[in-house]
Amino acid sequence: MLRKRFDYTPICSAAGCGADAIYKIAAPWSDGKSRELKNYGLACESHRDSQLARGKIHREGLRLAEGESVGPTGVYRLEPGAIDAKLSRLPDHDA
Ligand SMILES: [Zn+2]
Repeated sequence: MLRKRFDYTPICSAAGCGADAIYKIAAPWSDGKSRELKNYGLACESHRDSQLARGKIHREGLRLAEGESVGPTGVYRLEPGAIDAKLSRLPDHDA
């Protein structure tokens, strides 16, 4: 990591970007007992749409084990210190 901060700062997953990530691309996953967000990458403001498109492609290639289910891939706003379940899903595109 080239960046050093007092705390962990998520970085955009787009190749060669390196900007601070403010969005998480993820899909709600469940195996029937527990639920979590399946993470498909992090995005800054300018890579939000491209990372979402990439996440959707990954999602389509995903094979699920018996009993597993995955919801639609979406954009979640990253909140420092917040657990996945507390993140709020945003619209795919700005209105
Ligand atoms: Zn970026």
